[in-house]
Parts: sequence; C-alpha cells; structure tokens
Amino acid sequence: MTAGPILHADADSFFASVALRSRPELAAQPVAVVAHVYIASATYPARARGVRAGMLAQDALRQCPELMLIDVPRAEIEEVGDALFDIFHNSAVAVEPGSIEEAFLDVGAADQAGAVEAGQVLRRRVARELGIPISVGVGRTKLMAKLASRRAKPDGLFVIDVAEETVLRTTLPLSEVWGIGATTLARLHRIGVIRLGDVDGIPQNELQHVCGTAMARRLWRIREGTDDAVVRPVEARTSLTAEGSTAGYDRPDKTPTELVQACVDRLCKRAERAGLAGTGITLTLRPELGGKAIVLKRTLMAATTGRDTWLAVAGDLLAGERVPRLAGLRVSLTGLLPLDRVQHTLF
Ligand SMILES: [Mg+2]
Repeated sequence: MTAGPILHADADSFFASVALRSRPELAAQPVAVVAHVYIASATYPARARGVRAGMLAQDALRQCPELMLIDVPRAEIEEVGDALFDIFHNSAVAVEPGSIEEAFLDVGAADQAGAVEAGQVLRRRVARELGIPISVGVGRTKLMAKLASRRAKPDGLFVIDVAEETVLRTTLPLSEVWGIGATTLARLHRIGVIRLGDVDGIPQNELQHVCGTAMARRLWRIREGTDDAVVRPVEARTSLTAEGSTAGYDRPDKTPTELVQACVDRLCKRAERAGLAGTGITLTLRPELGGKAIVLKRTLMAATTGRDTWLAVAGDLLAGERVPRLAGLRVSLTGLLPLDRVQHTLF
C-alpha cells in the first residue's frame, strides 16, 4: 500500500469495443451489442444518438433507426476480460476489481506525475495487446479516481488534483457519488441534501436516520477528505463466471443445455489457462418472464478442470429441474484452487 494517488481503470463500452475489434469499419457508426432483448453496451456514436445500456433493443431502434445491433461475442468478452486483469495485475502492486472490466489500481506511484505515467503506459499496453480502449482516472481516493475516469472517457486519462478535489468535496451532486441507491438518494434530496456540502447543515442524528449510519459516516468522511483510499487486493480468484443468453437479434435460439455446455467449455479453458481447478459449480438460470433466478449448485469431493466431469455435473443439475423459458444463464466454477496445490492433495 502506498500513500500516492490511485488509478481507476475502466474499459470504454467494453462489450461493443470487443465486438468491434473484428469489424473496425463500424467504428464511426452507431453500434450496440444486444443481450437477449436489451442493449448491453453502446458505442460512443450510438450514445450520441441517445442509445443507452439497459434499453430495450426495440426502443433503441426507434431512437436511432440506423443503429447497428450486433450479438454479444461472449467467449471473446470473457477472454479479453481475463487478459485485461492479467495486464492490471502485471502493472500494479494491488488490484481491486470493480467488475469484469474495471478496477482500482495501486501502482506504487509516489506522486501525481508517477501515477499519470503509469496510467498512460497501462492505456497504451491494453490498446496494443487487446485492441480495446480503456480510460484511466487518477485521484487521491477511490471516489476521486472513479470520478476522474468518468471524465476521462472515451479513451483518455484525467487527473483530479488536490485543488479540484477540494472543490468537489463541496459541490459534487450526490447523484454522482457511486453507491448511493435511488431510494436513499430521494430521501436525501427531500431533506435538501443535493450536493456534498449540503450535508453540513443536517444534524448528525437526522442524517443517520435518513440514510443509515454507514452511509452517513461515508458522507462525513467524504466531506473531511478521509474517505476510502486503500486498494484492497483480492488475494486470489476464487471463482470464474461465464454467461450466455437466449435468442436476441439475428440469432437462432439456444436451449439451456446448449448454453450451459458453451459456458462450461469456456470456463474449463479459462481455468486451465489460469492454472486453476474448480471444486464447485453454480448454475444461475434467469427466467424469460422475470421473477427469481433459479440457482443450482453442486460441490465435488476433489478439485478438477475436467471438462467432461463438469459437463456431466451441469447436465445432471439441469435434468433435476423443471426449467422454464430462459432469458439467459450464468455458470460459475467455484472454490478455485491452484493446480499445483490440487496435485499435492493427491498424495
Ligand atoms: Mg466500463
């Protein structure tokens, strides 16, 4: 852990960027990647036309009739996501993942110049090796680094320096502080807390009552500048996840079994490449009509990377369940252990 600035690195419209690697001629056009019937990711030209992730594909087409919809290249996305984290781990002393395509990085920089240099090296390396743009934010705390990466987009680097940080700690709208849910935000707005500085006018117990003790403490710390600045590394990966969705646009439908097989295939390859073996498997099935996801789990006696073993276990789990029509599903290999340790346990 260092006291210098930290980095927030975040891929730009990740799914779409991965999909465009093999179709560079589409770079200037509005393009979106679809998962099931929703927009999963929109390129910047598409965003300029009002297309947003999470929209129904049909609404997006109404908004932007020349929008080009393409399928999620899941296998490629997962591969690029793994490779992106390999580069993160290679470039930093600590990496705290935020999602499959963003993380906080402690690069061991002593000062701002060092952090900026490390950020630019990282951006160039990802562009060269993976062919996708990432944006990097530099700030003294996680909140500041994350605000900076948002401003760096697309394909840039932005620094929030000490002077700007001081201003933001008073003027930043609460809606831009990540991690505040919509309900809490509405409650805070109702008592007149719109910007961070507004917190000062609210008595302690009232603020705690309105947003809970933990959130109140977080807001006070942001005001004082003592908010979280520690990159907490995940020591080792304990699970790997692959996802698949059923019929979206221009795609023949897939059965749950076919989706599970494709996910298991990819997971076993990824685990083996990472030198890991799994001890458990979890299938999470998302019904097409909404409602609760169906979660099926099984743990084995010994860790394995064996594709046939996992296919059989997954098939068995599916067979024991009445599976409704699905929007998509997720398969995780869990309880991952380094392969060398697995071999040791055999003796
Ligand atoms: Mg991103």
